[in-house]
Amino acid sequence: MPRPFALDPLFQSTKAISGVGPRLTTLFEKVAGARIVDLFWLLPTGVIDRRYAPKIAEAQSGRVATLTVTVDEHIAPSRRGLPYRVRCHDGTGTVDLIFFNARGDWLAQQLPPQSQRIVSGKIELYQHTLQMPHPDVIAFINERASVETVEPVYPLTAGLTHKVSLRIMRGALARIPELDEWQDAAYLKRQSWPRWHKALHRAHNPQDEADLSPHHPARARLAYDELLANQLTIALMRQQEKKMKGRTLKGSVELDQKALSALPFELTASQKHAVEEIKNDMRQPTRMLRLLQGDVGSGKTAVGFMALVHAIGAGGQGVIMAPTELLARQHEKNISQYAARAGLNVVTLTGRDKGKNRDSILAMIASGEAHIIVGTHALFQEDVVFKDLALVIIDEQHRFGVHQRLKLSEKGEHCDILVMTATPIPRTLTLTVYGDMDVSRLTEKPAGRQPIDTRLVSNERIAEVIEALKRKVEEKARVYWVCPLVEESEKLDLAAAEERYALMQQYFGDRAGLLHGRMKPQEKDAVMAAFASGDLDILVSTTVIEVGVDVPEATVMVIEHAERFGLAQLHQLRGRIGRGAEKSTCILLYNPKCGEIAKKRLATIRDTEDGFIIAEEDLKLRGAGEVLGTKQSGLPEFRLAHPEFHGELIKTAFDDARLILDRDPHLLSERGTALRTLLYLFERDMAIKYLRSG
Ligand code: ADP
Ligand code: MG
Repeated sequence: MPRPFALDPLFQSTKAISGVGPRLTTLFEKVAGARIVDLFWLLPTGVIDRRYAPKIAEAQSGRVATLTVTVDEHIAPSRRGLPYRVRCHDGTGTVDLIFFNARGDWLAQQLPPQSQRIVSGKIELYQHTLQMPHPDVIAFINERASVETVEPVYPLTAGLTHKVSLRIMRGALARIPELDEWQDAAYLKRQSWPRWHKALHRAHNPQDEADLSPHHPARARLAYDELLANQLTIALMRQQEKKMKGRTLKGSVELDQKALSALPFELTASQKHAVEEIKNDMRQPTRMLRLLQGDVGSGKTAVGFMALVHAIGAGGQGVIMAPTELLARQHEKNISQYAARAGLNVVTLTGRDKGKNRDSILAMIASGEAHIIVGTHALFQEDVVFKDLALVIIDEQHRFGVHQRLKLSEKGEHCDILVMTATPIPRTLTLTVYGDMDVSRLTEKPAGRQPIDTRLVSNERIAEVIEALKRKVEEKARVYWVCPLVEESEKLDLAAAEERYALMQQYFGDRAGLLHGRMKPQEKDAVMAAFASGDLDILVSTTVIEVGVDVPEATVMVIEHAERFGLAQLHQLRGRIGRGAEKSTCILLYNPKCGEIAKKRLATIRDTEDGFIIAEEDLKLRGAGEVLGTKQSGLPEFRLAHPEFHGELIKTAFDDARLILDRDPHLLSERGTALRTLLYLFERDMAIKYLRSG
């Protein structure tokens, strides 16, 4: 079933709205998006109440007021920099309308002396004179009813004024269609939620601040629609995955033993438990779909390795896939060490492998000579054929996007799937990303780890910090120096890193190295290798070291402008140290002028190393998009739902979605049809595709 025609107008360009040309399109793209539906989702962030219509003498300074005035005189500025004034009165007093950089002729036309006008705007008392700077509205007396209203305030951007955005938004909202209800009638009633089109209108017409709350019935309903679309998508995907039958992988006790003794350490209790849970899943005739959550450094790789060994013991092959070349190489390094001692063959396939080399890797994968295949996206390619793929492990999965795990698992017959993530995700968010995957958690760190000493230091003291580093380096410490994030621009990040690198070279000469995202993979590897082997003492880098990089000898990390990073990101970065037996120190350089929230966030990082506490705190302070890192990952961000407020709704949507599909797995009933519209409305076209194939 294609997208219902009723939705077509919503997916038109905003240009379809009268008064919107190329300039406004660009501006609206900045605040909302390019299509009409994007404007629907742009909910007001404030209200202006113009119903307050006092006499001048009673008007309270600081409030927005609508005044009925008679114009007295125009007072042009006596010198540059002073404002143009239009003095007005009513029966009780006088008020000055104030205009900076105004055109006198335009004002004379708008506000001719002796005329009566309605003006609306913020009132201020300035040097005993009541004034209204730049009235938002100047209208005729007979237009009073249309002025004395409550106006929504939308997010603006340079060049887009309140007045214009209001006019265009009204143009967009006039196009809200009435759609068949997709929510359960009884549930709507119980929640006192309006119908969809009413909810949208209501959410765009707040009457007071309280109407802006995410718990307002109109907003809650819209959020729930989005959450249900999300949960239905996940549930449909799950339904699809389950359709591919699993297989029983028995494993080999002997090989397990061999592999365990190949590990250079004893597994922690937590790791052992996770391995048992995983093996247990793999022994079942159904497919495994398990999430392995474990903080940075908790030792997920070893758990993944034992899962691979189980699959190989059952006669199959296993894949471990990483989001970047660097991480794939790192897995290769660790896993091939373990594997070699257990007598297993490992190959690695990334985008870098070309020509004959690639052909021979493919041949090893196809013949089954390769037991374990480490790789990146390159493994999705069509000519990658496995002899018998039994297990797919995806590391740091939310960087891939959820549907890609399906793509890879289609390469193996009924293969099991294990997703590893280092981002400790709060429970409610786990639901929005992974639905009901089974979860194993690594709750303890490998023995012998020391807590990291984290300190907040004002960036004015950077010179002292460098001096301290020199002493540390003399004591053979290895140091990461992480450079500030500049406006999400890789180019600027790079400039900052290069500048810092130049400074570090002054202090540390050729013992300083530089690592950034624009380097060629080979160059990156060379620098990392030099740092890992101790040829470099200090590694200046952008956030490319965020994920997975493992140099246990590194014990010091300095993060510049720490206040610009997300908490989860700081936590990930810090996880690069404290990996060996030596005590580690993390110095967070921050701008002392940063705001209170920023300081609170930094204090959280200083005071705990518990990723879950940090994630919960991050969710509260910054919202879900930041916690999940959806901005980088390309995962859909919620437009209407706020997981930090809507935790309960997420759980309800999760249950609701399963109930719906139990009763109507192909969404064919009347409500099912309406739910398809919901999926299209939130652009979950992928979910519809599953319906079709099913
Ligand atoms: P992550 O969960 O971040 O992927 P890794 O798997 O990279 O963590 O492990 C981090 C470090 O801890 C590695 O150097 C690894 O060799 C070591 N490690 C893992 N498990 C144990 C253990 N049980 N005992 C001691 N060290 C371990
Ligand atoms: Mg890892």
